[in-house]
Amino acid sequence: MQINKVQIIKERLTMHDIMNYYGYPIKRRIPCPLHCGDDDNFEIKINSWRCYSRCGSGDVISFVQKLFGLSFADTLKKIDTDFNLGLYADKSFEDLRRLQYRQRAEQAKRERENQAKQNADNEYWSEFDTWVKLDKNKRLYAPKSPDEEPHPLFIEALQKLSYQEHLVDEANARRRK
Ligand SMILES: [Zn+2]
Repeated sequence: MQINKVQIIKERLTMHDIMNYYGYPIKRRIPCPLHCGDDDNFEIKINSWRCYSRCGSGDVISFVQKLFGLSFADTLKKIDTDFNLGLYADKSFEDLRRLQYRQRAEQAKRERENQAKQNADNEYWSEFDTWVKLDKNKRLYAPKSPDEEPHPLFIEALQKLSYQEHLVDEANARRRK
């Protein structure tokens, strides 16, 4: 986790941010704040610094560490506090849990939608099959002459076909929603 914090600090903060925050001029060369030098022996680059007298060189973290004489761990905490980076708030765990919860909820929603679509599809084809059967019976059992007693399946087809058509239309509308 500390490696992450170091990375985040290095990505978010430049030497210019650091110098500005702790009240130093942002110039290429200034008197070294670390050993309180009196000539411009301290060079500021975007992500690093170098003291040409005696302090050596380093990155934003090592500068703050040397400036305040802190341990590495305390330096990270100080930078976190000063620049309000939120590295130590326990919200990362909370965020993770919230993210997982949201992902699970979204997946469950997708599954419900897929299931509903599948059900609507099945319902449509079932109504359609019934319509096909009725339509077939209407033709298959139609009386061959006006005197012939109508077949019960023919009568059923006549009675039910238009309503079945309506059911097919409705089922089709539902599955396209
Ligand atoms: Zn120095």
